[in-house]
Amino acid sequence: MKYIGAHISASGGVENAPLNAKEIGAKAFAFFTRNQRQWVSKPYETKSIDLFKSRCDELGFLPDNILPHGSYLINLGHPEEEALQKSRAAFLDEMLRCEQLGLNRYNFHPGSHLHVMDVDACLDRIAESINFALDKTKGVTAVIENTAGQGTNLGHTFEQIAHIIDKVEDKSRVGVCIDTAHALAAGYEIRTREGFDETFDNFNKIVGIEYLKGMHINDSKKEVGTRVDRHDSLGKGVMSMDLFYFIMNDSRFDNMPLILETPDTDIWAEEIKMLYSLQK
Ligand SMILES: [Zn+2]
Ligand SMILES: [Zn+2]
Repeated sequence: MKYIGAHISASGGVENAPLNAKEIGAKAFAFFTRNQRQWVSKPYETKSIDLFKSRCDELGFLPDNILPHGSYLINLGHPEEEALQKSRAAFLDEMLRCEQLGLNRYNFHPGSHLHVMDVDACLDRIAESINFALDKTKGVTAVIENTAGQGTNLGHTFEQIAHIIDKVEDKSRVGVCIDTAHALAAGYEIRTREGFDETFDNFNKIVGIEYLKGMHINDSKKEVGTRVDRHDSLGKGVMSMDLFYFIMNDSRFDNMPLILETPDTDIWAEEIKMLYSLQK
């Protein structure tokens, strides 16, 4: 079974997220656990937590199909100690929020070396940050998102993701989310049958398909290998519609959140319908 949704707004309270998801016909959703532009946010009220859970129950959203997204301010590989500690504290806070909401996965971008650290040392640091948070939480898997490799962002190759996972102590609570736009921009040609199969065969060999905990389904404004992160609406960018057909008819992507992060929120309902229509 495929669970498609979008990164919907949780403004006005986290309890609004499942309502907003239902409105666009989603079977899955993503959201920011708190204001993603601030370092500190006030804790959830019990009322919000209870409403979030009861609404998810009523509307049929299971924890397996909900993929909260981490704040962009966080850099788990930050080369400077003070900034690193700030990032780790925010990361832990967001993971604890997921735990409070009864969720089981939390998606984030690994981090950036900022030209100060070498790549391997930064990847080690990211893994240490994940270990730090896993040690203080339970039930929530840290889901590493592949990046486009823009600037000094790491996690744009399967080898870098495997490096991080290798250094995570609790392998049962680390996973991966593949963003299609990031994968293409990072240099993975996923638009052709051959390229798609090769990419996911390599993912399985290098990382392991069992680590896949979700997907971000996006078209890209930027071509393969440009390492520029610009999402587009499905069919409007450089991606082929074949890619979405491959995903929709591949059981490796069953029973996990498949999340749209496409720019035109007004057509999310249409995009969700279109994706389901691709299923054989
Ligand atoms: Zn992301
Ligand atoms: Zn993404």
